[in-house]
Amino acid sequence: MTSNNTSGLSTLAIHAGDEPDPITGSVADIVMSSTYVVKQKAGFSAHDLGEETPFIYTRWGNPTVDALERKLSALEGTQATLCFGSGMAATAAVFLSFLSAGDHLIISDVSYAGVAELARDTLPRFGIEISLVDMSDLEALAAAIRPNTKLIHTETPVNPLVRLTDLAAVSAIAKSAGALHSCDSTFASPVATRPAQHGVDFVIHSLTKYIGGHGDALGGSVSGRAELISRLKVEATVHFGGILSPFNAWLIARGAGTLPLRMRAHAENALAVATFLESHPRVTRVIYPGLASHPQHELAKRQMKNFSGMVAFQVGGTAQGEAVSERMMSDFEVIHYAVSLGHHRSLCFWMATQEMMQSSFKLQGRQLESYRAFAGDGMFRLSVGLEDADDLIRDLDRVL
Ligand code: PLP
Repeated sequence: MTSNNTSGLSTLAIHAGDEPDPITGSVADIVMSSTYVVKQKAGFSAHDLGEETPFIYTRWGNPTVDALERKLSALEGTQATLCFGSGMAATAAVFLSFLSAGDHLIISDVSYAGVAELARDTLPRFGIEISLVDMSDLEALAAAIRPNTKLIHTETPVNPLVRLTDLAAVSAIAKSAGALHSCDSTFASPVATRPAQHGVDFVIHSLTKYIGGHGDALGGSVSGRAELISRLKVEATVHFGGILSPFNAWLIARGAGTLPLRMRAHAENALAVATFLESHPRVTRVIYPGLASHPQHELAKRQMKNFSGMVAFQVGGTAQGEAVSERMMSDFEVIHYAVSLGHHRSLCFWMATQEMMQSSFKLQGRQLESYRAFAGDGMFRLSVGLEDADDLIRDLDRVL
């Protein structure tokens, strides 16, 4: 199946990229070969890579990874996709391939901690200027634009706040500034939001999360227009080398087949759990895009076809949060007290605001106020899995 057909998302998730092997008829093979017997003249440099180049060496291209890339392009509605060994490798690839010394990056003041630290601590070492902006404040974004702004990086819903960004509005600002827009859509998945339809140039995923879906394989991807992705390929995979292992590609593609089905169940369970938490006397705040109480519920309804499975909640101040997190570690029977998200298992983790500010975010003034408006002194990030909602609710009730 090709990415430009008109099939529904569930059909694409299962069939796109998965052509039967022409010799054996198999549809579930993994090609682990690192090299390939060459039957026609081929170059030895990444610059010799073209659309029609056969498989030569797996860092340049691999049939199993290629199949996953075609599936992801179909799901995101983009011309091309490139996979990486992790979500971090995918984001670093976009930053390092499309930014040079003297360029300016505007990045969400809150994003996945690793990305926030990469932008704030590493990129300036290479002469790249950084501005941190609360992407829910479009005036602040417009004010941050400089003549050398080359890239705007957003994440929606953002990890860990579950705060949203209006992608079409940011894309319009990026376009008028002559900048590219990259968006980390890991929390949403293509079932909830297809950022390319909102003008986003690079759609980034940690495949480790919803798309793989089972907590057994790290991976990352960047989807976009063919011209941009082929520029990314030469530098970021062939030269930086952070490619996805074919075995992980196979696991992730197997997970991706059930993504639409799983996302429906994640969202249904998350709404049940968020509604329970909202009614619990010890819970002081619940943030879930599917609740009418989410400050950006209208934007969520416009931009998300599925509210996903990520819920944030508070239980008062730092001391109360820490006490509950200790009970979670000892008393949870179903939910795992663990980082990561988007797996079939429910995962929950405490994130103290002061600690997050000292390490990953270092926000002040209005940006800190906006963070605290969502997180207070600290919040639990709960990735609602696919267990029975009643069991999850009982587990939460036990520790609250
Ligand atoms: N983006 C988001 C939103 C994430 O939550 C994560 C990891 O938690 C990453 C990127 C990094 O992905 P990976 O762990 O696959 O490198």
